Amino acid sequence: MNIGFEQVTKLFGHSVAVNQINFTIQDGEFFTLLGPSGCGKTTLLRIIAGFYRQDQGNLYFGSRLMNEVPTHQRNIGMVFQNYAIFPHMSVFDNVAYGLKARKVSKPLIEKKVMEALEMVELQHLRDRSPSEMSGGQQQRIALARAVVIEPGLLLMDEPLSNLDAKLRIKMRADIRALQKKLKITTIYVTHDQEEALAVSDRIAVMSAGTVQQIGSPQDIYLYPENRTVAHFIGTSNFVEAVVNKYDAMTGLATILLGTITLKLKLKRNYVGKIWFSIRPERLMIVKERQHPQQLPGVVEQVTFLGGKIQYGIRSEGNQLFEVDHQLSEAGDLLEQEQHVYVDLQLDRAIVFDGLGQEVL
Ligand code: ATP
Repeated sequence: MNIGFEQVTKLFGHSVAVNQINFTIQDGEFFTLLGPSGCGKTTLLRIIAGFYRQDQGNLYFGSRLMNEVPTHQRNIGMVFQNYAIFPHMSVFDNVAYGLKARKVSKPLIEKKVMEALEMVELQHLRDRSPSEMSGGQQQRIALARAVVIEPGLLLMDEPLSNLDAKLRIKMRADIRALQKKLKITTIYVTHDQEEALAVSDRIAVMSAGTVQQIGSPQDIYLYPENRTVAHFIGTSNFVEAVVNKYDAMTGLATILLGTITLKLKLKRNYVGKIWFSIRPERLMIVKERQHPQQLPGVVEQVTFLGGKIQYGIRSEGNQLFEVDHQLSEAGDLLEQEQHVYVDLQLDRAIVFDGLGQEVL
């Protein structure tokens, strides 16, 4: 079932929580709303659930206009950050709850609940009390309870944020696998970009109530459409420069970057301030300078992260560059205070205009 938003706006008093949202989530898609705290993700999810009514615009499930349809008629399964399971009921009864409310027969309840518990690998704990179980197990109960009713749509709001880092990674893979198996259209809210990249078919990056970009994890990471997205997804080194001449014949721009002058192809005629956005894994550190795009700097931070090392290099222009270096041998290590050069690899950088809005 497609989920469609048409000019959806929600106000709280005078502040706009969600501002003229337009997009469609495809049937069977794992779709994530990603953005910093307060960007409107939860508000949008609550509009889909029917907990909030938008002030303007329309919400569609398939071709059906949902604006006036109450929550209990939307056929939605939900999983939230705080598991919201009933501590006084057994695991089985928690999962059976929605089926009982729908007056499903006892033998069918038994069958469906056990199938759901098997999916989340909790069948052996059916008679336990959830209060004796770990956070991860409780979240599995919540997941089983959400899918057992065979909803047309699954909504999840930060379902993993109460779990420790290792369990989060395991659970997100499990959620993804379950969703693929059941093919339920799923809308997932998180502020954790790594989580969003790991689980989603597509991601909507939100900021201040608006959608900044919608795309696959790869698209969003490799081709951010504006500076806000580049800044929020992954880490970017932003380098300010000025285009002082553009040759329309060749498409070559003359660019001043600190004391360096260079020529690069730009997609359109533009003169003025620009930003290069360069991922830490794209930057290179060299010990000897071979060409002018290698800025002199000093190693200020060395952070050992196992498979990679993160360096903070302070350039002569006083900019701190974050550089990731895959570790191949221990001999690779640079030391603090060491003098090096940062190779900007500008031909592989993304270029935004002075407002950070447009890719050039
Ligand atoms: P978080 O990750 O912190 O939950 P979010 O992206 O989900 O953030 P929302 O909870 O949707 O953001 O909030 C969007 C904006 O609307 C925020 O500025 C928030 O303060 C405001 N807001 C949300 N709910 C209400 C409410 N019930 N009353 C008043 N303002 C609200």
